[in-house]
Parts: sequence; C-alpha cells; structure tokens
Amino acid sequence: LNGSVRQESSLFTVQSPNVVYTEEEIKSKYAYQTTEITRTADNKLVATPKATNYNFKVNRKVGKVGMMLVGWGGNNGSTVTAGILANRRNLSWETRDGKQTSNYYGSIVMGSTVKLGSDAKTGEEINIPFHDLLPMVHPNDLAIGGWDISSLNLAESMDRAQVLEPTLKNQVRKEMVEMKPLPSIYYPDFIAANQEDRADNVIKGDKACWAHVEQIQKDIRDFKAQNGLDKVVIMWTANTERYADIIPGVNDTADNLINSIKAGHLEVAPSTVFAVAAILEDTPFINGSPQNTFVPGALQLAEQRRAFIGGDDFKSGQTKMKSALVDFLINAGIKLTSIASYNHLGNNDGKNLSSQKQFRSKEISKSNVVDDMVAANHILYEKDEHPDHTVVIKYMPAVGDNKRALDEYYAEIFMGGHQTISLFNICEDSLLASPLIIDLVVLAEMMTRISWQSDNEGEDYKGFHSVLSILSYMLKAPLTPPGTPVVNALGKQRSALINIFRACVGLQPESEMTLEHKLF
Ligand code: NAD
Repeated sequence: LNGSVRQESSLFTVQSPNVVYTEEEIKSKYAYQTTEITRTADNKLVATPKATNYNFKVNRKVGKVGMMLVGWGGNNGSTVTAGILANRRNLSWETRDGKQTSNYYGSIVMGSTVKLGSDAKTGEEINIPFHDLLPMVHPNDLAIGGWDISSLNLAESMDRAQVLEPTLKNQVRKEMVEMKPLPSIYYPDFIAANQEDRADNVIKGDKACWAHVEQIQKDIRDFKAQNGLDKVVIMWTANTERYADIIPGVNDTADNLINSIKAGHLEVAPSTVFAVAAILEDTPFINGSPQNTFVPGALQLAEQRRAFIGGDDFKSGQTKMKSALVDFLINAGIKLTSIASYNHLGNNDGKNLSSQKQFRSKEISKSNVVDDMVAANHILYEKDEHPDHTVVIKYMPAVGDNKRALDEYYAEIFMGGHQTISLFNICEDSLLASPLIIDLVVLAEMMTRISWQSDNEGEDYKGFHSVLSILSYMLKAPLTPPGTPVVNALGKQRSALINIFRACVGLQPESEMTLEHKLF
C-alpha cells in the first residue's frame, strides 16, 4: 500500500528573534526554566529559579513514512488499517443511527487541540489542532504493512475481529483483500497455547536465531523499497507474551543478547527479536503490549545505536481513566485507599490473557500506574504506603471486542468520611487502541526529526534519548531512560508532550495563568 507525501502547510509561524525558519528547518533558541532545590544545614528548602539554554532544530521535511505492525491481522491491526483507508478516502457509511463519516476521534494528534495563545485584539483563546504544532506526517499518508503468524488477509482479519460495521467493511474490503501479512516468527512458549491454531504463517524455527533477525531486517528494507519510503516505524500490536526471565549473561547486555539470539537461547521472546532487528535497521520500535520486550540488553543496544524505542502497553481504556482520576483525587487532597479493577472481554486478546503467564504481564503493567501520584503526596501517604490495588481480567467470548471495565475507587475524605466512585466503562477495545497506534507512529516519526544542542553552538546537534518517554501519554507502563522517573499522571504526560513541541518553535509552556484576565 503506497503512502504519499503531502505538502506541509503551516497554520502559524512564530515571530521571535529566537526562531528562524528555513525551507528545510525550524531553529529555535529556548530557555528551559526549572526550579532547583537545595537544603540548608537545618534542613530548610531553598528554591532557586534556573534557566538552561537549548537550541532546537526541527527538520521540516516529513518524507514518506510507513507503519509496520507486528500482529497486523489482529483486532487492532485490522481496525487501524481499515480506519486509515476510510479516512484517506473520506468514506461514510450507513449505521442504524444514521450516516457515519470517517474521523480520527481518540487520537491526541488528530482529534485534540492545543492553545496557541490569545488573540491580540479580543483576548480570545486561539486553539489549533495538535497536528499543526509541528510538521507531522498525516496518518492518511502512512504506508501500511506488517507481519502476522496468521495468514488471513486483512479483509478476513477485519471480519474475524467483528469490530466494524458491514457497511464500512464493504467499502474497504477490496483494498484489504490485497493486504497480506508477512510470515512472522512464532515461539509457542511465549504466548498462550490457545493461539496455536491461528499460527499458519510462520517463519521456520521455534526459538530465536540470527536468521530471524536478518529476515525481519530484510522485510523492513523490502517494504521501504517497494513503497519508496524514507522511513518506517514498527509497532508491536501482537499478542501479549509472557515475561522473559532476566538472566545475567543472557539478556543483560547488548552483546550477551545478540549472542543469546545467535545461540538460540530459549529466554529470547519474539518481540525482543523484532526489537533487535528494528534497532539494527535504525527504525523506531514501539511495544504496545505489556511484556518486557526491552530486556536490559535490548535497551542497551538501542542506546548504542541511538535508535528509538518506546513502550509498554497501549493506555486505552481502564488505565487511561485511572491515570486521570487518581491524579485528580490525590491532587484534590483526597486519600484514595483502594482501587478494585475488574475487566471482562471476549476478543482474542482476552483469550490469550486467559492464560496465567500472559495475564501476569498485563497485571504487572496495570499495577504500577498510580505510584508516582501517591509518592508525590506525603500529606496523605506515609513513605511506602500505597492504596490497595487489584486487577482482574476474565475472558467472556460473548462480549467480543466490547470490553467491560468495572472499577471501584474507595477514598477517605474529611474527618474520616468515605467516598466511593464506581465506574462502568464499556467500549470497543480496538477502537480505543487504533488511534493510539496512529499517535505513537506520528509522534515517534516526529521525534526522528527533532534535534538539540546545548547553548554552545560549536557542539553537534543530538537526538533525544533512545527511550522515548515523551510517548508516555499513550502507554500504560511508560518506559523511561534508565534511572529517570516514570510519570503516569495523564495531565502531566500531555503537558510534557505539548510543551516540548512548543519549545521546538520557541514558545513557552502554556502556564494557564491567564493573568491578563485576572488583574484589576
Ligand atoms: P489480537 O489477538 O486480536 O491480535 C494480535 C495478533 O498478533 C493476532 O493476529 C496474532 O495472530 C498475532 N501474533 C501473535 N504472535 C505474533 C508474532 N510473534 N508475530 C506476529 N504476529 C503475532 O489482539 P488485539 O486486540 O489486536 O491486541 C493486540 C495487543 O495489544 C495485545 O497484546 C493487547 O494486550 C495489547 N493491548 C490492546 C489494547 C486494546 O486493544 N485496547 C490495549 C492495551 C494493550
């Protein structure tokens, strides 16, 4: 499927001595304002404003971009593909509620706006589409391809997924019949045994080997060549794997991991083999599932090669609500004391997660999502005190992709009173995850075109750290550069993303002070 390049149209320009536009680039000088805290001998805090100067450079040439999905034939893979085709052709279709037209609802990039500033004359807020903040690829222009262990073409996969309306499916079927996933690597030990009957499109070999890495590298190069692409982003949206054991000498360093793949070690997961191949091809690789694909050796390899990685696990439904609600409660000074989270779902993801080891991966990724918010409030919580938190997932085939998530938030309020919030969240899982796939691809590609240097102009421009924590908004268990804090709070994650992009065009963070409306 061919992607195409669209001419960048800038909705705005920044007028500032600190910002320079050339045909190729946007260059900005930016003073990053932080507050440094020190302690006096008698343990008093001293806050000192600090400014660090950076120069940012954005390459304005988006080029032709491809998205390759591992697990292309799954519910997410087939739904996001149909969704992009429908948007590209601006399709509409009949439903029992009336005519529905294509959209990108649920995508922060395509469906949300950011405040650019205030109108010079009226003082009114001017909001622009997030997508227009920097020159980003349009999802309609993405070439789409990928791998699956199941041989069904994308039209058949879309039927199997039971997500989209027949009136929509009929309009994209012809194109999707032609889309066939590349054979993939399948190591049965890593996903549930109940997946075996769909594995009819596999590359020979049931454990890691270097030939698998090379085959995936070749697939990436071929896809680029066939579609005339400048770059590709790879997304793992295949089944949740079990955790791989971290074993010294096996997957703890880049060299050990490579040697273990060559030796066929049984603790190397297919997703890690894909990650290694992507890193070696200098192709961003993002893990949309919860398993520990990025074992320390994979992470080190990415750092060595300066390749981008991101993960883990799409933050689509229950956890997205949690990372917004818990942030709100604790920042409101309310002491959350327990979160009971229960899910049931009937799609193939649910079937795979009905197996204990794969469920365990999901349980881990769902369990740490409030830690940073709790740790930040030492009025409500003692050191190491946490709310009780339990996550249950059950497979109920009848509800299909229409996942049910029930949550009870129990909190302590003023003077020993209690507040109970009960949530019942029902939604088509793949329709929540598909826009996240799009956001992750668009934003990861964007990050390949942003570079920075410290104030010393003699220095070379560098990229961001290999681990793209800027993608955290879309991810349940955000991967961050080793030794750096994890931020789960949804609001903070969005601010980080938007303010870093603003900095790239020399704009200060949106402070929400609106002083202009508050003073006499
Ligand atoms: P799915 O089971 O419908 O699709 C997964 C696909 O991956 C299947 O087609 C399967 O054949 C394929 N596959 C398995 N192993 C493979 C391999 N080694 N190589 C290539 N293909 C392989 O699941 P889904 O609903 O599309 O979800 C995909 C993943 O995203 C799951 O791990 C799920 O936990 C994760 N996830 C989904 C959501 C969401 O849908 N809202 C949210 C968070 C995470």
